[in-house]
Amino acid sequence: MDDRMFRTAMGKFATGVTVIASEADGEVHGMTANAFMSVSLEPKLILISVGKNAKMNQTIEKAQKFTVNILSEAQQEMSMIFAGQLKDRHVVFDTFEGMPVLENSLVSLACKVYNTHEAGDHVLYVGEVINLTLQDGEPLTFFEGKYNLVNS
Ligand code: FAD
Repeated sequence: MDDRMFRTAMGKFATGVTVIASEADGEVHGMTANAFMSVSLEPKLILISVGKNAKMNQTIEKAQKFTVNILSEAQQEMSMIFAGQLKDRHVVFDTFEGMPVLENSLVSLACKVYNTHEAGDHVLYVGEVINLTLQDGEPLTFFEGKYNLVNS
């Protein structure tokens, strides 16, 4: 099995899309991620997987907290901005529990780092959810490298 075949296979798993956000030294950094899952109810834990080369690691390591913003179908542009596919866009973040969140997300989870695991070329962050916001709407989805094709 080569890398391309593995990536193609993983792309067959339809997901939602999140933007991870955190703030350190007065600077907010965001990153698009679909490697997100719920882990535990007691305590309330979630997991994200961040590539070792991503700048996001430096911000989370300093702040020891981060938010996960689950995007609605109207927020594809946010996904593209925080994946580096749309450059030089100004994004205004709201603040929730002292952390940056993207307004109009379906869900924003405010998390503190519970523990961290290195896994190959990624770092897994388990976050303890300290509070969340919730609103109705349709999700942005990602399948076979494309947005919102799950039901089309
Ligand atoms: P950068 O590449 O420097 O930042 C990402 C982009 O966000 C840059 O263009 C930057 O200008 C912009 N940005 C950051 N902060 C701000 C701000 N405050 N205001 C305005 N713009 C800002 N990678 C993973 O590691 N794990 C995943 O689970 C994952 N899932 C993905 C899912 C999808 C659907 C896509 C499209 C990409 C995914 N990626 C994932 C890839 C990841 O989003 C990119 O590699 C990203 O560029 C890595 O970000 P970075 O932290 O290295 O920072």
